[in-house]
Amino acid sequence: MFDLTDRIALVTGGNGGIGLGMARGLGRAGATIVVVGRNEEKCAGALRELQSLGIRAEALPTDVTDEAAVQRLFAQVQARHGRLDILVNNAGGTVRKAPQDFTLAEWHGVMDVNLNSMFLCARAAYPLMAQAGGGKIINIASILSIFGAPYATAYCASKGGIVQFTKSLAIAWAKDGIQVNAVLPGWIDTDLTVGARAQVPGLNERVLARTPAGRWGKPEDLAGIAVFLASAASDFVTGAAIPVDGGYSVA
Ligand code: NDP
Repeated sequence: MFDLTDRIALVTGGNGGIGLGMARGLGRAGATIVVVGRNEEKCAGALRELQSLGIRAEALPTDVTDEAAVQRLFAQVQARHGRLDILVNNAGGTVRKAPQDFTLAEWHGVMDVNLNSMFLCARAAYPLMAQAGGGKIINIASILSIFGAPYATAYCASKGGIVQFTKSLAIAWAKDGIQVNAVLPGWIDTDLTVGARAQVPGLNERVLARTPAGRWGKPEDLAGIAVFLASAASDFVTGAAIPVDGGYSVA
């Protein structure tokens, strides 16, 4: 039910953090991983790590905010593999400052990487998946899809948008056998949140006090949900927004 042998999975932001944690899980379940990120050195490092685990993987460094580059990326996937079964839209980032201090360029930058890139990648993946009779799209949102944060207005707006985007795609593409779901990670220990802990006083203590599991998540904590949402086990699950947060959103 969870077997991903012969499946091709493209993971944006798969060269580190949560993306690499999910890539390891998908690879261990049998999928071939296409790692996408801007930093070629990080991509090469992720590739070495995945291959050392016996996972088939390749890296196609791409900026997912660049429409033409995204078109080329999916054309390459089609040319090399002739198919795409799983798209994990995970690339993301933030600018931390008070809303009144944002420039429009900073606002657009966060929207481009978190939300608009998902539209570009999903649109490019659609013909590949539809012609094969189905596929799985996993959009990485956030618990900040639910909660607000005074230092992350653009991030919260983009992550809220991902949930509505996910529901709409799920309805539009159900007839094509494509399931589209969102994952809402809680506080996970990655480069992104190392920055948050450094910039937001008291964040570390607040996260530990508020999370019933009593710890920060690890990238590996997202591997199981990725395998579930990428596999036949989730064929009747679509349009869902699933928190993976150690209980943060219910406490
Ligand atoms: P990281 O900073 O470790 O990962 C971000 C990834 O996105 C990197 O691999 C980066 O690669 C890639 N990326 C950023 N911009 C682009 C771009 N323009 N084109 C292609 N790739 C890009 O952080 P996380 O692993 O924590 O974040 C992964 C996702 O999880 C994000 O969407 C984040 O919002 C979400 N999330 C994280 C949480 C956490 O607590 N850590 C909580 C909730 C959600 P490169 O720099 O090489 O481009």
